[in-house]
Amino acid sequence: MVTIKLQQNANLPGKNQVGKISNWIILVPESISDSEIKKIPYGQILNQRKKQLKKKFSSKSYFSLDLPNEKICHLLFACAGISISRYELLGFAAKLLKENNTCKGTDLGILVHGFDKEVAEKMAEALIAAAFASEAEMPAFKSSKNKQQIKLKKLYLYGLKTSHGFKRTIAEAEGNELARRLSILPSNKLTPTEYLKEARSLAKANNWKLEFYDLKELKKKKAGAFVAVAQGSPVADAGIIRLRYTPQKKISGKNSLSLVGKGICYDTGGTNLKPANYMFGMHEDMQGSAVALGTFLALTRLKVNFPVECWLSLAMNHIGPKAYKPNDVVTASDGTTIEVVHTDAEGRMILSDTLVLVSRLKPSLIIDYATLTGACIYSLGKAYSGIFTNKEELNPVLIDAGKDSGERVWPFPMDEDYDKMLESDIADIKQCSRESGSDHILASRFLQRFVKNDVPWIHIDLSSSNRKGGLAHIPTDTTGFGVRFTLNLLLDKKILGHNLK
Ligand SMILES: [Zn+2]
Repeated sequence: MVTIKLQQNANLPGKNQVGKISNWIILVPESISDSEIKKIPYGQILNQRKKQLKKKFSSKSYFSLDLPNEKICHLLFACAGISISRYELLGFAAKLLKENNTCKGTDLGILVHGFDKEVAEKMAEALIAAAFASEAEMPAFKSSKNKQQIKLKKLYLYGLKTSHGFKRTIAEAEGNELARRLSILPSNKLTPTEYLKEARSLAKANNWKLEFYDLKELKKKKAGAFVAVAQGSPVADAGIIRLRYTPQKKISGKNSLSLVGKGICYDTGGTNLKPANYMFGMHEDMQGSAVALGTFLALTRLKVNFPVECWLSLAMNHIGPKAYKPNDVVTASDGTTIEVVHTDAEGRMILSDTLVLVSRLKPSLIIDYATLTGACIYSLGKAYSGIFTNKEELNPVLIDAGKDSGERVWPFPMDEDYDKMLESDIADIKQCSRESGSDHILASRFLQRFVKNDVPWIHIDLSSSNRKGGLAHIPTDTTGFGVRFTLNLLLDKKILGHNLK
């Protein structure tokens, strides 16, 4: 886990302090005057270099400089427009951190200068988020270890001192790191059995209650849709993990939250086997569950004052003599009969039974995360994730939470008439349609049926779970998208306080 110590200082550093830290990033606004730059140590040199630039020193531009001091400190002098979007800002911060990594030390100084306090905080936050994201340790199985990588140990922020000490950014980073780390693990290293072990040790360390509904238990609960997917596995280790966080100060009548995640530890497609190019990378088909768990961890770290549950729906989608087949009819735990159409649409099968179990407990809100459909990627690309809800009036706040966090989402229609495409001749509902191009919407309509008691529900189809070159401040292809978005939704937009019924 990343452990970087953060120190804040409201003042500008003196030359003396600059000389003690080996690397620096200085961020200023586009409109900054030469006289303002002069106040910064080595400001004269910075002004000279700025003048020598052929291009305009505009938003998202920067130059590097070795300072004429004993340590020959490396400095990046960068500029960001004050109206830059959070997504762009995080991406720019990641670029600066990457540039900084080329001559890295164990300490990094960050100075934000010339901004209003509120904007300065946004700028500093992005750089801190990017620093933590770039330091996150990801699994690697190379037998010959690369040269010991230099780890960033200390971060010195100048020009701004906050009372919160960026504890939310740090909690988000930890949650995101957990989500990415689990997702990157190959499926022979992260089977449902191993996943359960991970969850148990996290539960112990964080004082969570853990229950595991194994296949025997799920059969008892008549969760036929979940069991249909799990039955193809030679090892009967699939099941649903239920984790519970209770706030220290018990507040009666307080809203409660349930997070749900799709955890398909490997998706071969099942009987409808995926071709090679589509199967490659399917160890990450559990990323929804990892994002739910990462969000749950971040909320725990922040000691939120509402109860939270986290449900991880874990299975493998295997091919084999026992695997479920198209035209099978199975019965979910709420009695709904489902005609199987395509075994690669396994995510909605395991989630349907999970949603029944969760919604029967009537939490104030359910959020589920799933790498669910290719259709969502075709619709949005990989820089956005799709969002769906049974409470249409939430859509504007969902969009805002995406913009403000930099993890952007876009809603899709959830009109009832889409259900026509899921009508079955033989069962209550078809699992999916063989014709449709709107599979992400049909999948969401399918899932909504299993949300009982009209519990407010948000479903995130993680089209941005894996993107070449990373996304925003996240440098790895695997993004862990969703932790940061959800925290914005809960803590800034206070979605649990909305009139959700
Ligand atoms: Zn699938």
